[in-house]
Amino acid sequence: MNPNRSFARLSVLLLAVTLGLPATTRAQEIPSPEEYFGFQMGADRQLARWDRLVEYYDMLGAMSDRLQVVHMGPSTLGNPFLAIYVSSPENLARLEELKELNRVLQDPRGRSEAEVENAITNGKVVFVQSYGLHSTEVAASQTAAEVLYELATRTDDEVMQILENTVGIIIPCFNPDGNIIVTDWYNRWVGTEYEGSSPPELYHHYIGHDNNRDAFMLNTVESRYGAEIMFREWIPQAYIDHHQMGPYTARIYLPPYAEPIRPEGDPLVWREMAWYGSHMAYKMDEVDLKGAIGAAVYSGWGHFGFHWITPFHNIAGMLTESASARLASPLYVHPDQLGGSRQFPEYEEQTTFPNPWPGGWWHVRDIVERQKVASFAPLEIAAQNRETVLLNAYHKASRQTERGREGEVQAYVISAGQHDPLTTMKLVNNLLGQGISVERATREFTHEGRAYDAGTYVVSMAQPKRGVIRWLLGRTFYPDNSYTRDADGNPIRPYDMSTDNMAEFMGVRADPVGTPVETALTLVTAPIDPSGTVGEGPHGWVIDGRLNDAFKAVNLLFDAGASVRRADREGPGVEPGDFIVSASADPAAVRSIAEVTGVDFEALESDASSLSYPLGEQRVGMYQRYYGGNMDEGWTRLLLETFAFDYTTLRDAEIQAGDLQSRYDVIILPADSKEMMTGEREDEGGFGADPSSVPPEYRSGFGESGVAALEAFVEAGGTLVTFAEAGDLPLDEFDLPVRNAVEGMWGNEFWAPGSTLRVEIENTRPFAYGMPEEALVTYLAGGQVYETIPGAESANVDRLVTYVDRDILQSGWLLGEEAIANKAAMVSVAKGEGAVLLIGFRTQHRAQTHATFKFLFNALVTRSGASGPVAAQGGG
Ligand SMILES: [Zn+2]
Repeated sequence: MNPNRSFARLSVLLLAVTLGLPATTRAQEIPSPEEYFGFQMGADRQLARWDRLVEYYDMLGAMSDRLQVVHMGPSTLGNPFLAIYVSSPENLARLEELKELNRVLQDPRGRSEAEVENAITNGKVVFVQSYGLHSTEVAASQTAAEVLYELATRTDDEVMQILENTVGIIIPCFNPDGNIIVTDWYNRWVGTEYEGSSPPELYHHYIGHDNNRDAFMLNTVESRYGAEIMFREWIPQAYIDHHQMGPYTARIYLPPYAEPIRPEGDPLVWREMAWYGSHMAYKMDEVDLKGAIGAAVYSGWGHFGFHWITPFHNIAGMLTESASARLASPLYVHPDQLGGSRQFPEYEEQTTFPNPWPGGWWHVRDIVERQKVASFAPLEIAAQNRETVLLNAYHKASRQTERGREGEVQAYVISAGQHDPLTTMKLVNNLLGQGISVERATREFTHEGRAYDAGTYVVSMAQPKRGVIRWLLGRTFYPDNSYTRDADGNPIRPYDMSTDNMAEFMGVRADPVGTPVETALTLVTAPIDPSGTVGEGPHGWVIDGRLNDAFKAVNLLFDAGASVRRADREGPGVEPGDFIVSASADPAAVRSIAEVTGVDFEALESDASSLSYPLGEQRVGMYQRYYGGNMDEGWTRLLLETFAFDYTTLRDAEIQAGDLQSRYDVIILPADSKEMMTGEREDEGGFGADPSSVPPEYRSGFGESGVAALEAFVEAGGTLVTFAEAGDLPLDEFDLPVRNAVEGMWGNEFWAPGSTLRVEIENTRPFAYGMPEEALVTYLAGGQVYETIPGAESANVDRLVTYVDRDILQSGWLLGEEAIANKAAMVSVAKGEGAVLLIGFRTQHRAQTHATFKFLFNALVTRSGASGPVAAQGGG
């Protein structure tokens, strides 16, 4: 448990005094949200801001004995993150006991029949609902206030039964910072021509809308709070995440999901989603709330955000998606603007859509009313069917365990001594973050012909979370069938990635084995927190350049004023790419950096100066635009900060002012279209937002002068690093002797939507130091593949990473592999005194692809002038 958290209950007395109320105030004296905020939740042009909502919830917690308001800790920007427990006072008084009973059902391994029966008889259905994860989908964080108020005050049979038979855990705002960003932006422009426009920046400081793509890597603190509740502390029977979608289709999407679904979850999970969803829809039409649809729009094979990964935790993980207005402003929808969607071919009645909404004004209040029904209805049937839900919780967990015990893959074996052992530990910690049981061999062993050292990790499939393990560690092929092809046979883009294989993203080998691992194993009970060792000797130290964390250590060494060199030749105990730390470095700083990073500092056997060149700290700039921000830029910021890289955010004006070479050594253009960066559109509709709808000071784009400044920067010796489609800018504008070999290709010609692909790497080049000779890269639609244009300057092109010649796909979906076979995935192109480093895949995608972080990190420590010997001239 987090020691920082405090139960709001502690402030009950204080608050009661402040409000002049006795601590045992009756329910009817609790102010409604409308009384408290002065407007009804969802009223036109009104938004409750998160700080006031927190005050309201703390007050509810103080005044009602049905609510416990838990402050889990600060959000990314320091706002309170809440989890609110809702149940009868008797249940709340024995929450820890209920949690233990729930554990029996969610993981029945080793439990007796009597324990299981007791848990079913005396347990309660645990039901998590979250609101406001996507902040421009403004309704949900408002809806939560009414849901909580009604649960705190209503005395009808429905609510009393819910309180008696369920433990509700409500996350009233999954992105507190975003509620504040959007509310303030909305209020700033309401009443002007820019009312209802989207905020210019990411509404999560680092990752914006991608904040629901993080439930397996848990890179943000908000995700870690969610995982603590859902994957480890409670493991609810059901979970719903309330969202909004575009305005021009059904009014609300409800469970179940459309096809295709991701297989290998327990079947009851999918039946439960249909059951809850059907009741939501039934209650919706009971009160004639028009326009509900299920089994359409959102397929069951999505990304691994919370609502799509929870089914593999044996949780009925669901989504609701209401049609959006314009932030808090109403929107008029003409009937002819309404259309269908996935498995909803026409906007007309179908079995899953019997009550079409006819069009007209659409208000946030309309969303709030639907979200309230969608919040209460599933609680109602969970409460009415408590024993059934709990018995089936036991069935789901025990049957998944049994399937794992009998399956073709019985376990994944993860050797500890891999290419980058510290990253291997991070993978294991991520598995623990999912609440997966991981064991460790206490001695060396041989299994299925492979020898493993002591310390090898073993992840048995004979556990309830078998489904999560299968998708995070097992090779994945996205379905290719009539659900994923259109009538013309063209592939339909998956909702997100076509694989979420974390081991492949991280460059960690997880060996599937078909027989149980029978060696001495101990359970890993806490996250691994390695501490590096520091050798002693007169020649300084060497750090293994294969470790991602070596770069963090180097950055911290720079901060400590140490001098660092990089080996470009082999020597005693030294490989090219290793870092050489001067003997003059402060030993206390070295010890502390070893401890923080887990990196070992090996004592050098002899002076390594002749094997290495001096490294200087590079000045790094990264372009940031408006129009809602660029998530790839935000993720990159998060990654750079995690690895202690200093960087400067570059905006248009600074780029256009030129003379970039006097201030920067490396400039990063995160994945983005050239049009978004330059602000020069060739036709209407190129932007997500129509620029004219955005206040002029937030219409970004550095234009032709910015392009010229970037070219001059490279000519003068800078390194320009481009991710994926951002490569269009130098390819189109800098007259480089390379082209994108897959430009304009799609569908059967070439298709790799979020897949892992096999490459070979020239790891003797500084831009590729520390990488293995073969690896997997993560390729997304819109990525680039490079071929050299024959001509005089092609000698300037250095192919650093190349796709293999056949069987390129490791996981995901790949059509037309011959289009990329033997072609370059990453090249550096010398230009003037500098270089352009074109990375066609996603080297740092969502801070998840640890396997290829080093391509970025190398670029940030390698003095430009291409990847050849020029790098050795770097220094100072
Ligand atoms: Zn959303």
